[in-house]
Parts: sequence; C-alpha cells; structure tokens
Amino acid sequence: MKYSRSDAPKRPKPERLQDWNEVYLQEDQEERNAAVRTQATRCMDCGIPFCHSGTAGCPLGNLIPEWNDLVRRGDWELASDRLHATNNFPEFTGRLCPAPCEAACVLSISHDSGGAVAIKRVEETIAEMSWEGGYVKPSHAAVSTGKRVAVVGSGPAGLAAAQQLTRAGHEVTVYERDDRLGGLLRYGIPEFKMEKKVLDRRLAQLRREGTKFVTGCEVGVDITVEQLRADFDAVVLAVGALRGRDDKATPGRELKGVHLAMDHLVPANRACEGDGPSEISAEGKHVIVIGGGDTGADCYGTATRQGALSVTQLDQYPMPPSVRDDDRSPWPVWPHILRTYPAHEEAGERRFTVAVKRFVGDDDGHVRFIELQQVRVEKDSSGRRQVIPVSDEIEVLPADLVLLAIGFEGVEHMRLLDDLDISLTTRGTISCGSDWQTTAPGVFVCGDAHRGASLVVWAIAEGRSVANAVDKFLTGASSLPSPVIPN
Ligand code: SF4
Repeated sequence: MKYSRSDAPKRPKPERLQDWNEVYLQEDQEERNAAVRTQATRCMDCGIPFCHSGTAGCPLGNLIPEWNDLVRRGDWELASDRLHATNNFPEFTGRLCPAPCEAACVLSISHDSGGAVAIKRVEETIAEMSWEGGYVKPSHAAVSTGKRVAVVGSGPAGLAAAQQLTRAGHEVTVYERDDRLGGLLRYGIPEFKMEKKVLDRRLAQLRREGTKFVTGCEVGVDITVEQLRADFDAVVLAVGALRGRDDKATPGRELKGVHLAMDHLVPANRACEGDGPSEISAEGKHVIVIGGGDTGADCYGTATRQGALSVTQLDQYPMPPSVRDDDRSPWPVWPHILRTYPAHEEAGERRFTVAVKRFVGDDDGHVRFIELQQVRVEKDSSGRRQVIPVSDEIEVLPADLVLLAIGFEGVEHMRLLDDLDISLTTRGTISCGSDWQTTAPGVFVCGDAHRGASLVVWAIAEGRSVANAVDKFLTGASSLPSPVIPN
C-alpha cells in the first residue's frame, strides 16, 4: 500500500516514431533496478498466489512471489535461477506477454490497492539482469540418450521444446522453412515490441547447448517424410497457425490494397532485417486496420512508423470498460482498463462497434474508401457470432491500404501434414491425444499448431510439456516439467 504501481518508462513518442527500436527507455541499470525492487516489494506473497498458476494465472507456473521476494532483496542471480526454472525465454514473455498473471494478481481486486503488481516489468528486468550479470549459461545434458528428434518450426513453442529435449540428452534438429530462425518472433512481431537481437542472443545459447538448426528447409518438400522417419526417433510439429482469416463476404475485398495482416507485417520485419524495402508499405497512405487484437496493434504501430497519412483501427466490439463486467470482447484486456498498446498512444485513432459494409475502389481497381456502419455483436441460439447493424447511416473513410487482422484459422496447408496423414480439428488445428501425440505415431504437436493462435507464454508452456511427452516416449520416463495439458 506504500507504493503505487509503475510500469516501465517509455521513450518520448516523437523519438520512437523515428526508428524501429523498442519503445521502452534504456534506463541506467542502478536506477532501473531500484525502481523494479520497489515494484517487487508490492507483492504480498499471497497464501494462494493466483498469479502463479491455475485457470487465470501464468500457464508456465512462474514462481512469481518467490522471485518478487528475491528481487526485493536484490538477489538477481537467484531470481534468475528461479525464473529460468519455469520459463526458457523470460525475455520474450517479459516483452510480449499480455500478462495473465497480472490480471490474476490479488492486488488487482481493488482500485485502492494501486493495481496489480507490475509482474511483467519485474520479469523483464530479471531476464535482462540474467544476461547483464552473466547468469545465462549454456546448460549441457549430463548424458546422451542416442535418440534423435526433429522439431519442425522455430517459433517459441519449437524453440522451447528443442531446448528442453537437448538438455535431456537427445540430439535435436530444428527445421525452419524461412531463411532465418524464430517464426513469428522474427517475422510477425515488430522490432518496436522486441528487437531481434534479443532473439539472436537466445538462439546463440541454444546452439552452444547443442541444438542444431537447418533454415530454408521445408519438411515434406526439401526433406521427404520417409527421410524424416528414417532419420529421427520422434518428430515435434510446431508449425504455427498462420492461415489468416479473410473477409471474402464484404464487397470490394478483391480490390488492390486490401491485404491480410501478415502480408504487411512479414515484409516490414524483413525490411528491418535488411532485406530491402517492404512491398506493402503504408507510407503516404490512409490506413485502415480491421481487428482490435495484438496483430492489429502490430499493423497499427508498423503503419505509423512507415509514415502513414492516417491510421484507423476498427473493432466490432465495444470499448470494454472492464474485463469483469464485459466479457464480450475476444481481445486481451487488462483489468479495469481498455488494453492499450504502446502503438495506440503514438498516433491514429481507434473506433469501436463499427464494421465495414463495403470497400470502394477507383477506376484502377485500387481501394480508396471504406463504408462503415455502427454494429453490435450478438450470439445466436447456436452460439454463432452475429454482427448486426444498428443504424442505416453510412460513414465514409479514406482508405488506400486496408489490413485484415481478424484472426487466424489454423495451420496452413502443407504437404508434410498430408504425407504424415495428420488429422485436423474443426478449428483447423492439429489434434492430439493426452500425450501430445498426433494421429501419426511418434509425431507430436505443440504451440499454435495445436492450440490455435495464442499467447507466447502458452507456446512456451506447450513446448515444455511436449518435451516431457517426447522424452517419456523415447526413454520410458521423464523428469522434464510439464506445465500444461493438451486442450
Ligand atoms: Fe504477489 Fe499478486 Fe502473486 Fe499475490 S497474486 S503473490 S500480490 S504477484
């Protein structure tokens, strides 16, 4: 009660719009650590720490009260040890996770308490102190099992599974179809949320531990399934859920300038990697982002930095006043406040309870306007979502670039899944049993490919759990942790 919640300070808006670097201020280490120790002091070490696990808290079971206390006492090395005990990549979650732990924190019950403990800020600072203090060291397996595992996909789920399995003594090879490693962490998440040097630093640790990586290799095409089966004792599919949901029903969808969100984000991230200018740039354009979630916010901040004339983000749902009294929105919210991303503070506008009625083009077939209508969202008797116009009034907004960030519909079509004869769920994800094994024996699944597009913390949790299952499959038993079960 003595201290207020305080989040990590951000760079001034005009400054951060001039570059792609992370939005947070590079603070003096001593000042940063003192501020974060004060924040950790707010933790009450609850008898039942809802932040730590359960249906609402951290899927990884992060030992939050334990490391809050270690930070309070200034023992960064032990705090790093306890944080890494449950989380392979706390520098990713500290930057990217919307922090279900904070939503579950007992201190968020009351406005008078000053809000949840700033767990994410504490986590990120421990993670950075781990690197600055040299506490992150390669962890080598005590014995080699002689078993070989292929991990397909190098996003957070694949990397977590690979690191756990390598540390358990298996020979692990990660296959990535792209030219660089990281999956969505590389080509989906913009630099201003997490600079790629953060990813590269962790990849170097995995390499030193013995995980092997092959890039530019599409399994099922560049390596046949027969060869994969012959070379490996088990296979982990961590191929993501990148089939973007489209909006074919709205008239004008076929116009030039209307794109899926990832068609914008991937080249923008490639441009930051030095691959030349983005093919789909927002520079000098009126930009409409459709969809109020994380991907929409990433498009929003990217368009702003590319020099858009205007950026407007549309959401069919109302601005949620509170996560507790309004659970209609599917987008992540923090308790008591509308979830605002740093990108939203910088420029542009957010519009709620609206939907596009029509995309309108010019004589060249390029989108120039959208027609907008006020709507409400309801579920019908079968539970299906219905978008209902609430007025005949049409509003027209200029639109030279429209980005559809309305979710994902499961895994992309890939030959690998056909050749393995893998079954998909009705949601387009890969089904598995309680042991994470798919319908193909010896082939396991984790992350978005299993769960559907979700949070980075769930990807890491599933990667850790699938490693436990594969280890058991290969050796008959496992001491690896398994924080979550298949849904
Ligand atoms: Fe600390 Fe909040 Fe967790 Fe309680 S719920 S132990 S106050 S972080």
